[in-house]
Amino acid sequence: MYNNRNNISQYKLIIFTAFFFVVFDNIAFFNNVTNVYNFSDINIIYVSSLAVVLTTFIILLFSLFASKYTTKPILIISLLISSSTNYFMNNYNIVVDSDMIRNTLQTNFSESMDLLSFKLIIYVIFLGILPSFLIYKTKIDYGKSITKELLVRMKIIFTSVVIILIILFSFSKFYTSFFRENKPLRFYTNPTYWIYHVGKYIGETYTTNDTTIKKIAIDAKILNQNTKSKLVIVVVGEAARANKFSLNGYNKETNPLLKQENIVNFSNLYSCGTSTAESVPCMFSIYPRDDYNYKKGRYTQNILDVLDRTNDIEILWRDNNSDSKGVAVRVNYEDYKSSDKNTICDDECRDEGMLVGLDNFIKSTKKKNILIVLHQMGNHGPAYYKRYPKEFEKFTPVCKTNQLEECTKDEINNAYDNAILYTDYFLSKTINFLKNYTDNYETSMIYMSDHGESLGEHGIYLHGLPYFMAPDNQKHIASIFWSNDISNIIDKKDNQYSHDYLFHTLLNLFNVKTNVYNKNLDILNKKD
Ligand SMILES: [Zn+2]
Repeated sequence: MYNNRNNISQYKLIIFTAFFFVVFDNIAFFNNVTNVYNFSDINIIYVSSLAVVLTTFIILLFSLFASKYTTKPILIISLLISSSTNYFMNNYNIVVDSDMIRNTLQTNFSESMDLLSFKLIIYVIFLGILPSFLIYKTKIDYGKSITKELLVRMKIIFTSVVIILIILFSFSKFYTSFFRENKPLRFYTNPTYWIYHVGKYIGETYTTNDTTIKKIAIDAKILNQNTKSKLVIVVVGEAARANKFSLNGYNKETNPLLKQENIVNFSNLYSCGTSTAESVPCMFSIYPRDDYNYKKGRYTQNILDVLDRTNDIEILWRDNNSDSKGVAVRVNYEDYKSSDKNTICDDECRDEGMLVGLDNFIKSTKKKNILIVLHQMGNHGPAYYKRYPKEFEKFTPVCKTNQLEECTKDEINNAYDNAILYTDYFLSKTINFLKNYTDNYETSMIYMSDHGESLGEHGIYLHGLPYFMAPDNQKHIASIFWSNDISNIIDKKDNQYSHDYLFHTLLNLFNVKTNVYNKNLDILNKKD
């Protein structure tokens, strides 16, 4: 007779793994919980009950999908992913939601290498690979009959649900507060929250049969063809927050060059999202932030399509970031991240390389007007010290690791500020490039960062927190405007604006008439 007394059932394995998750992968969660609910008196019971609910919920979740072919792979994949989400949650206080997943999947190799650290590898080995190996080696007794197996599963699911319900009802006051008033706390649970958002991401991204791009502004055309040609450069910045520009009152001089130019500094401009993948498509879309979502952005034409439709505007997108996030897929696009195209590369390719050869492009165009979009590497974190050539290292000492928590606040800020200093140089160089064309063109430059950045304030780093809970630093962005003539808008520099304004402001800049134009979302609109 075959004897498998040493083997364990798959449910025992699930229960062990659930305990492992709660003890090792939910440190950020329990830290955040005990920040809100002091770990003393009655709260000790509440917080302990949370640990029981979480463990039971994880058991319930994995039991639902348990089978001979799924249990081990699901547990192993969950452990591997959670070991790294755990690292980023503990060290940067980030949240892994569907926007973060999209952002991660759209990240290129060199950006991922920026995040790689010794500590991360330790997390992955000890909390991911080692326990996965143990699971892989565990011999499992899957039971002899399907009916028996189903019965055990029903018992576990039923018991789990009963335990959860009893706890929720016994401490209903605490759980009402936990779920309603402190909603963000559960964002830090591992692996439940990211698993939920993987589902959400798939729903948002793939569950559409209709992949045709909805046309908008089909009536778009340029008015007054006999006016001067327009040459506009839009610079999409990266992770530059407003209060790090000395133009906005920052006490370190981070805008020594821009302050000498005749610019309009928008001191009160907010981003659409808190990540590149969210903000970039949103800022070029017709939908205001309230009404925007990933699908609408993906399957609706954007301002580049509308301007292109006039047949009188040459459009070029140059990218030194990851890519255009789907915005420039139907227009002229050039990748400036590698030295194949970019002629200014040292440790990495520099933003100013995107200006090289633009003269030829402008000369060669047959169309009357020109729009150039430059997507910067800017202040992409956490390795801020890599984002500028050495001669811009004005603020020292500098944090020279991507493990920000190992640096002092000053070192992090210095590295970040040096990268801002390089953006100041890049933007002033762009303005001076445009000045060469003021005889033949009405020239202007719009600069908007895609989102802001947290630099360790309240233990939060980087960006990408859900918008409603993100600190102002991740949403209040640096933005400036330069043109031959700024007299019309200089008074409006402190008005409250957002990414919502880019679409309609560009229509105005190119004198495009269409019935989708909204003058209330046009920064240049004279009548307000
Ligand atoms: Zn970004």
